[in-house]
Amino acid sequence: MPREVGHMGALQNLIEAIYPPHCLACAEPVGSDGALCPACWREAQFLGGTLCDTCGAPLPGEPDGGPLSCDECLATPRPWSVGRAALAYTGTGRRLALSLKTADRTDLPGAAALWMARAGRGLLAGDPLVAPVPLHWIRLFRRRYNQSALLSAALARAEGLEHCPDLLTRRRATPSQDGRARDARFANVDGAITVGPRRRARVSGRAVLLIDDVMTSGATLAAAAEACRAAGASDVRVLALARVLKND
Ligand SMILES: [Zn+2]
Ligand SMILES: [Zn+2]
Repeated sequence: MPREVGHMGALQNLIEAIYPPHCLACAEPVGSDGALCPACWREAQFLGGTLCDTCGAPLPGEPDGGPLSCDECLATPRPWSVGRAALAYTGTGRRLALSLKTADRTDLPGAAALWMARAGRGLLAGDPLVAPVPLHWIRLFRRRYNQSALLSAALARAEGLEHCPDLLTRRRATPSQDGRARDARFANVDGAITVGPRRRARVSGRAVLLIDDVMTSGATLAAAAEACRAAGASDVRVLALARVLKND
């Protein structure tokens, strides 16, 4: 074994002795980085089976080959072609999304990106340009980073796709979506997101994969997707870490 590798291994052991790996969603020690403890695995609702084409929400029954849509997407046609989320925003999915916002978990985006890539396998075809839903710079300044951009960077790196973290910008600061009713959420962000003039050439004629941490009403993703379409994107797909499901 080359000496440097031996040293690196010793360093790794030392780091693990000082900072033993913890579950991604709680403080429980686990065997390796990027893992969930058994309790958090049990409370993780990964979304699979029969799913809504545009938001990835689970649907009852078996697919019949035709288009599949949940009630929410039927009521609100989405300006993107296909959407998926890795987890339901409940239990572990909710804790992961919250810890991505508040905590300094550097191992979380990489693990989350792997789950997102698995959930959104079909969305990665055709070399899409990967871009996060933007935060307004005022909120970015307060929070220091955009959690969706952490996910989009990790996903693009893992899948060898081109990443454009500043593809979309907020034209104006929008008040928080928290606590707003569905229609108010759409009105709040309508026209608030745009593709900057210097980024238009990268989108024109190309598929775009939009990344968000949590899909709730889909209003912010819709504003982002409309901006990509206005800039000439050939297709827009959306992929979130967690989807808020009705009845949760
Ligand atoms: Zn845990
Ligand atoms: Zn849906």
